[in-house]
Amino acid sequence: MTFESLGLNAALQKAITEAGYAEPTEVQARAIPAALEGRDLMVSSSTGSGKTAAFVLPALEGILAARGDNTKRREKGRVYGPRVVVLTPTRELAMQVSKACVTYGRHVQGLRVATIVGGVPYAAQLKALRGPLDILIATPGRLLDHLGTGAAVLENVQMLVLDEADRMLDMGFIDDIRAIAETISSDRQTLMFSATFAGHVGGLAQQLTREPRRIDV
Ligand code: AMP
Repeated sequence: MTFESLGLNAALQKAITEAGYAEPTEVQARAIPAALEGRDLMVSSSTGSGKTAAFVLPALEGILAARGDNTKRREKGRVYGPRVVVLTPTRELAMQVSKACVTYGRHVQGLRVATIVGGVPYAAQLKALRGPLDILIATPGRLLDHLGTGAAVLENVQMLVLDEADRMLDMGFIDDIRAIAETISSDRQTLMFSATFAGHVGGLAQQLTREPRRIDV
């Protein structure tokens, strides 16, 4: 399989070519077409499999498609919030995902990516949340804080991604994840990535996804 056959937007294809990727990895070849169809996904794959691009590329494709849709009128001064939210267990993973968004989105004009993690001052995060935003990458605890104060608005989210969901549950984030998901429209697309879907993480997947496609790599 080639990246070209995935039919991605030219801006994304260009970034992939520049990254030097010859062909999609297995998880990309299986997850990207299903995600582009709008399916929810439960993907078991490990770090190093290329899973980040497997959700970042469909996320960017959705952002580009929404931009072409001018039917939604935007009121001046209103905060609409991001179209894509990615939850990660750690600050380090959030930074990696953020970097991938910038790499694959380098030819997407004016792409706005914000990273919201714990253990850092609130001030800069408040500024990022007030401006227009395409992708928000966050650890669950801090995002929930910002939802509580009204600083974060998730009414415009069309895609929710849970990266390393099993690790997020190991870290005790299950209630935070549920609370965040409840503030997002049920019309959203949900992509869950996890080393395993055994136990609680399988239960969470059942609550958060609709007729998900299972992909085991
Ligand atoms: P990940 O599993 O998402 O952490 O990705 C692992 C590494 O694989 C990263 O350094 C990516 O830049 C790289 N990568 C992702 N997709 C491809 C691909 N299709 N071909 C070659 N390298 C890739």
